[in-house]
Amino acid sequence: MELTNLSVIRELMSRYGTVFKKSLGQNFLTSANVPVRIADAAAESGCDSVVEIGPGIGTLTQRLCERFERVVAVEVDSSLLPILDETLGDYDNIEIINEDFMKLDLADVVESRFPDDIFALCANLPYYITTPILMRVLENSPKPASIVVMVQREVADRLVSKPGSAEYGAVTASVAWYGKAEKLFAVPSGCFTPRPKVDSAVIRIIPHSEPPAAVSDEDMRRVIRGAFAQRRKTLVNSLLSEYPMSRDDIISAVLAAGLPADIRGERLGVQEFAALATELAKI
Ligand code: SAM
Repeated sequence: MELTNLSVIRELMSRYGTVFKKSLGQNFLTSANVPVRIADAAAESGCDSVVEIGPGIGTLTQRLCERFERVVAVEVDSSLLPILDETLGDYDNIEIINEDFMKLDLADVVESRFPDDIFALCANLPYYITTPILMRVLENSPKPASIVVMVQREVADRLVSKPGSAEYGAVTASVAWYGKAEKLFAVPSGCFTPRPKVDSAVIRIIPHSEPPAAVSDEDMRRVIRGAFAQRRKTLVNSLLSEYPMSRDDIISAVLAAGLPADIRGERLGVQEFAALATELAKI
């Protein structure tokens, strides 16, 4: 059964009495080579185990089952479970967990299912919750060895953007603190049903094995939040809203971090943020 075929998708959904739920970001793939390319990119990690978020009717899941020894797929929509039973019936290496990924105890799943605790994460992410899912995965442990996910094209551009560019923002800097992001390939909106209004792209994030600098995650999150709190202001003015310090103290920290006092937050890369967090923590 070719799950990217529109008539197959419609037949399955009508036979099991379910409909596309926009509120859950249900845009299913209708292009056969896209799930193949996503699964190939995920398999490049060399991991034996993979977690998929949002299997839908199992399109990408089938390809993952062919490339990994163990697949755990987390789907929040229980009306899709009987469909997944049918479409994944030929595979004995899949487990579906019917839960909201944002509430899932991923550490427990990894510990109880994956013998070496090493795993990849792969998904055609629901757009309404892309950034919260990525931050949840990156901010907690254990982290995947590799993350290969489809996101809106604008989000992909933002995540791989460089300091000083228009797309660069708090999310870019936060993701860069946790890992290295790259854009793999674009996927036009015509490759989904229902067709979304925007194009998509597949990105890969490889979490760092060691933090890029000797600063706590909490201090990094705080300095990034402060730097982007008021984007149109200078870094010093923006930081004032996050740190209960005098303007002079903040200026001293900025200068001690080797930065000009009138710089804007969006010009700072991870190492500059780390140096600044270190100086602010001394005050
Ligand atoms: N993987 C399928 C594909 O590529 O055709 C479906 C992808 S669709 C963009 C997103 C999927 O994520 C849907 O199946 C949706 O029900 C599921 N989903 C949405 N929110 C979720 C959540 N919080 N936790 C788990 N799954 C979720």
